[in-house]
Amino acid sequence: MAIYLDFNASAPINERVLGRMNEVWLRHYGNADSRTHIFGTKAKEIVSEARESLCDILSTDSTDLLFTSGATESNNMAILGLLDYATETGRTHFIATSIEHKSILEPMKYLQNRGCTVDFVSPDSSGRIAANHILERVTDKTLLVSVMHVNSETGIIQPIIEIGDELSKTNTFFHIDATQGFGKLNDEIRKTKYDMLSVSSHKIGGPQGVGAFILRRSNTFKRPPVKPLMYGGQQERGYRPGTTPVALVAGFALAAELCEQEGSKSITACRNTKESFMKAISGLKYTLNGDQSYCIPSTINISFNGVDAEGVFVAVKEHYALSNGSACNSGSYEASYVLTAMGLDEMRIASALRMSWDGKTEVDFSRLIEYVKSIV
Ligand code: PMP
Repeated sequence: MAIYLDFNASAPINERVLGRMNEVWLRHYGNADSRTHIFGTKAKEIVSEARESLCDILSTDSTDLLFTSGATESNNMAILGLLDYATETGRTHFIATSIEHKSILEPMKYLQNRGCTVDFVSPDSSGRIAANHILERVTDKTLLVSVMHVNSETGIIQPIIEIGDELSKTNTFFHIDATQGFGKLNDEIRKTKYDMLSVSSHKIGGPQGVGAFILRRSNTFKRPPVKPLMYGGQQERGYRPGTTPVALVAGFALAAELCEQEGSKSITACRNTKESFMKAISGLKYTLNGDQSYCIPSTINISFNGVDAEGVFVAVKEHYALSNGSACNSGSYEASYVLTAMGLDEMRIASALRMSWDGKTEVDFSRLIEYVKSIV
């Protein structure tokens, strides 16, 4: 079986999480909003416990968290949910980075078509956005700044603390897509001042199809004026109608608890995997994409000189599951917009491989290295 090295696309489910979900599916199958019987009461209790647990981890109030289907939905809510307010108040300026996930970029483009102005800020070749490049664009008309925590393709950590500190002194809302940081850099998230945050369960060993949107109150106890994207029920206080998937929510919370408990152990394990990879490739000609001093230990983006990435995928597919970026874009080959925004040349982009892991199993990279050597 091929070695799975695509954790940033989706991480395998943790067996304990699966056990918990099975228990909920088999025994507590009530609708969390059924108020006339104990099956409903039990389901509601499970959802409340999951909400409390996730909010404890995020150090936020339990009324701030709304369950969604995943980070794509949460990101859409943060952006499209503000459109009416933007139009009504004339605060129609938005800022994002050009290396965001498509679930930020495309809603932002939709806003542009609806008369809003969006500035997309690019990083330099380090892959890290300069906080001042965002902050210098903020005016009284800027309603929202949206910046991802960790880039999924490069693993580069963005300066969310600095941006949040400065934006908290303005009336501009700050949204963070923390999909790739949650579960790994929880301390940093807790330290950051933000108004809205998106997280997803399947990147942290939880099930696919569930995530959360944090919509926080400001010092004046007001939440960002986000409108729901859907109507038809009072679940999640009307922000997100639809039957709550009780087992998914319970699994998501347990996965987050396990990540929180493992904390530094898991970072060390990921660092060891990266070190063993770096040792294994010594002597080969390569470039690492993104400044490694800002890179999360669970991800590496590397271009082996003169070795086309598509060729690698085909040649080693029996042995490794590799990728060259977001699974949402990899249906057809297109040069990575993240690496393009970093100003890397075409050859380097065409050779870029992304590998991501959780450090729990030792990885034998020898077949990959043999292939690279055979091409060079
Ligand atoms: N944002 C980022 C940074 C991501 O990596 C992903 C997943 N590829 C998403 C958003 C979308 O998350 P989900 O699959 O939960 O919709």
